[in-house]
Amino acid sequence: MGGCFVQQVEEILKQYWGYDDFLPLQREAIQCGVSGRDSLVVLPTGGGKSLCFQVPAVRLPGLAIVVSPLISLMKDQVDALTECGVAAACINSSQTHDEQDDIIASIRRDELKILYVSPERLMMTGFADFLNQHTISMIAVDEAHCVSMWGHDFRPEYRRLGSLKNTFPETAIHAYTATATQHVRDDIAEQLHLAGPEILIGSFDRPNLIYSVERRTDVLQQVSDVLDRNKEESSIVYCIRRADVDDLTERLQKAGYSAAAYHAGLTDDARKQAQNAFIKEDVDIIVATVAFGMGINKPNVRAVIHAGMPKSLEHYQQESGRAGRDGLDAECVLLYGGNDYGTWKYIIEQSESEEAKRIALVKLGDMSAYASGVTCRHQALVSYFGQELGVDNCKACDVCFGDLELAENALVSAQKILSCVFRLDQRYGADYTASVLVGSKERRLLDANHDQLSTYGLLSDHTKKLARDWIEQLVGQGYLEKRGEYNVLSITERGWKAIRGDETPRLLKPTEKPRKRVAPDSWEGVDRGLFDTLRVLRRKIAGTRRVPAYIVFGDASLRDMARRRPSSVEGLLEVTGVGQAKARQYGKEFVATISEYCRSHDLEQEIDPSVRPAPKPARVSKRRRVRSTLNLTKQLAFGRFSKGESIVAVSDAIEKKPEIALKYLLDYIAQKKLTSPEPWVDAATFARISEAAKKKGTARVITILKELNGTADYDQVKISLACIENAN
Ligand code: ADP
Repeated sequence: MGGCFVQQVEEILKQYWGYDDFLPLQREAIQCGVSGRDSLVVLPTGGGKSLCFQVPAVRLPGLAIVVSPLISLMKDQVDALTECGVAAACINSSQTHDEQDDIIASIRRDELKILYVSPERLMMTGFADFLNQHTISMIAVDEAHCVSMWGHDFRPEYRRLGSLKNTFPETAIHAYTATATQHVRDDIAEQLHLAGPEILIGSFDRPNLIYSVERRTDVLQQVSDVLDRNKEESSIVYCIRRADVDDLTERLQKAGYSAAAYHAGLTDDARKQAQNAFIKEDVDIIVATVAFGMGINKPNVRAVIHAGMPKSLEHYQQESGRAGRDGLDAECVLLYGGNDYGTWKYIIEQSESEEAKRIALVKLGDMSAYASGVTCRHQALVSYFGQELGVDNCKACDVCFGDLELAENALVSAQKILSCVFRLDQRYGADYTASVLVGSKERRLLDANHDQLSTYGLLSDHTKKLARDWIEQLVGQGYLEKRGEYNVLSITERGWKAIRGDETPRLLKPTEKPRKRVAPDSWEGVDRGLFDTLRVLRRKIAGTRRVPAYIVFGDASLRDMARRRPSSVEGLLEVTGVGQAKARQYGKEFVATISEYCRSHDLEQEIDPSVRPAPKPARVSKRRRVRSTLNLTKQLAFGRFSKGESIVAVSDAIEKKPEIALKYLLDYIAQKKLTSPEPWVDAATFARISEAAKKKGTARVITILKELNGTADYDQVKISLACIENAN
């Protein structure tokens, strides 16, 4: 791409979308779009595929056609483009004739840059002929894996796109998908008759996703732990069965979480309602089966929790991939239990074709190995899709955090377990075997004389839970197998190898360390209170405009606003994700909210994040300066308070609002441990406040104010309470 070209597309990226840089491979993909070379672009979810065709569409003369499988997806994208100032529309069966006529008219007038259509509509003879009378800049096939039977979401209507090349011989075709396997890629290129396409395949690693796996012990508690770490943010919880969805939703709701259920057993209306509430952020949490997800473009999902193990890594990758599409940190937690494998195995065994059964069982085995595995989760996932991670420590999974440690003498422990299974004639389940291994005194076991076995109590140094975990890990790695209705343990060929010492299983030793999360850079310098305030504003605007909140601004933009704290619309344009249309539309409102918040919280504005973080001396000095100015103001206030000056006088002297002066006074009282509020509160008022505090408690200022019936004000109560606290 020539220099001038680069500059042009960069300008478009900044002007319309407010981004400074391209995501990996976007530039190359955009180049194909602009130069008119067919392309197949494979980027993971959140990789920024939409811009790969939207930027060229803005740059090129004429109308770009985007084929998209779902009406909800189309609407979402059109809304987002319109907000960015790009003339876009969609045409589909959900619209009235009048609406469709309006769009046709605007195509006639050459007003549109991008048109979203369903494959059926595009291939209708009359419609294709009509389009062919206009300049068509490019054809983008989104979710292109739908064309392939090898994909996970084959759609027969996509097959008709095979004649696109004939119908629009002059127009380049670009296909976009997140499905990684070679089979699907080849099939897409073939089905769409792409001509010498540029094939661009991105990295399948999602570095912003923090993966962890836990054995399921107390599902409500474990799920709540993750949700609590992501309070008031959007999360998805996947369950295997509908009944689990209903049960968990109810328990979460009872525990005070804002959750809704979604599965195929609910009515269309109920499902739609749950999905809309989630998108509009009226509920935080959606609890769902795999039925939920397709067409959900919500970029700010902060956690995806699997309350049960999915049946394949493809499914896991796809479902967990719905977290953090905006590139900000998000958690993917997999809870698995011994029954999950059996549940899926049972379901799979019902399928008719032997071949399908065989493939499904292999995939289930891979999934299970991931769950009980001890290699880096990022590495395990990308290598499943045929890529290498290229780093030893991903710094974003439980294994690399060191949350899990390998047991030192895994082979010996495994041999003890395997021998015990053997001594029990391979006729007992995991729970019973674990009891024998730790030397339990349970009645059932003594009655069977299993305390007489040579393997009884071989793991008595460990807890039963750990013994049980190890058994599951051996199942996961294929050393043991669960058979029959009762999940009886039996030793596999691989298990015999371990008994002979020819193979060493890996066993995990759970550490006592608290679960860590990476300190996300993306929060660096962000004022959380301001971020929350901006979220409220975003919600309000989204509500009036009847669009999802993230279409107004993404979380990344709000964080950057709460970091830079611009005081003007020009300053707002520096914020990532703020293009000119949005700045014009919402700029004033956001800037006013930011400035107001900064004034009342004594926060500096116009922060340049590039000079914030530590390393260079110049940066350090700036940070110090900020801090010392703050201290200086406070010191000045303290000096004046020590002379008994009033809040108003101090507020004038330090050039801050009275609220700030009051805050400093309260700090002063705490530091000096004052027990008398004079001269700021006179003795009689203090006596009345003390009396009310005795009667009503000191917890709530408002209660005391009410009790005093207007005979004291807010400041007086706050100051008095601070002194009462010191006296206590
Ligand atoms: P995909 O379709 O590949 O899953 P999207 O096109 O939905 O991904 O983009 C994912 C997110 O990344 C969106 O929030 C989008 O606005 C954002 N994004 C796209 N390109 C850029 C960029 N160059 N810089 C920053 N954010 C970007």
